[in-house]
Amino acid sequence: MHSLHPDGYRVSRGGKVLHIEKGSTEHFFHFLLGYLLPAVWLGIKSGSKIRVLDCGPLMNGRLEEALNSSGLKWEYWRGWKPWAKTVSLPRWDLSREPFEDFQNAVLFLSRALEGAPNCVESACETKENLFLIRSPEPSFYGPAGPAILKGYGIGRREISNREEIINHLGAVGSSFSVYQPGAHSLRCQMKAFGSAKKVFGVRGAEWANLIWMNQETSACVVFEGGTTTPFAPALARDLRISLHSIVGESAAPHVDPVTVEKYFSDALPEPRWNIPN
Ligand SMILES: [Zn+2]
Repeated sequence: MHSLHPDGYRVSRGGKVLHIEKGSTEHFFHFLLGYLLPAVWLGIKSGSKIRVLDCGPLMNGRLEEALNSSGLKWEYWRGWKPWAKTVSLPRWDLSREPFEDFQNAVLFLSRALEGAPNCVESACETKENLFLIRSPEPSFYGPAGPAILKGYGIGRREISNREEIINHLGAVGSSFSVYQPGAHSLRCQMKAFGSAKKVFGVRGAEWANLIWMNQETSACVVFEGGTTTPFAPALARDLRISLHSIVGESAAPHVDPVTVEKYFSDALPEPRWNIPN
């Protein structure tokens, strides 16, 4: 039996998170890359039952989907058992080392998720161009909610004129799907990103789904507040997925609809990442 916490976390013997460094397991990017993926990998390699943290009501659904479809023996880490060892997992949300383990873990999890049920049947089928929108903020992540780090989805940021862009793309006959990753199962997100050639959206946790994309595909991330962040660009570089950045000045950036139309209709851009220090 291994009780698993991410590197940089201090956890009580009852499984309560006391201190974290960087992102939390209740947010999708850090959850998927910094906890679920290395946890699955350790469970497979060790062959032991694993005990996992409660990752909040939203991420727990994805956690259970992944662990159940992986065939692992697992339980939630609730209540200390004196014989349980604790194990600190690598933070693949921050640095994908060793890279071969990271790649093998992605491969294993993607095969396991093939057997997971669809979330909403045919309504989830998507085209090669994805226009991402973010989810509303559940009360769990709100100012009075119990989340370790506050804020989620639209509550953090969104493209201010997304409806205008969607209407424009429709009017010019662009081939694309509007996709809200937070509304879908992990398997569905894997399928949508795995079959995508180009994905456009604002900075956010949903870019963890870059791990399902093929090489020679492209992502276009809109950053806010006049600056970029390294998480998605560094992941794209490691995966050899071209990443284009648009840097908006405000917290809710405005994007010219023609920019998105051209991004979807033009040839794939040259690989580049623009990773800030
Ligand atoms: Zn779905």
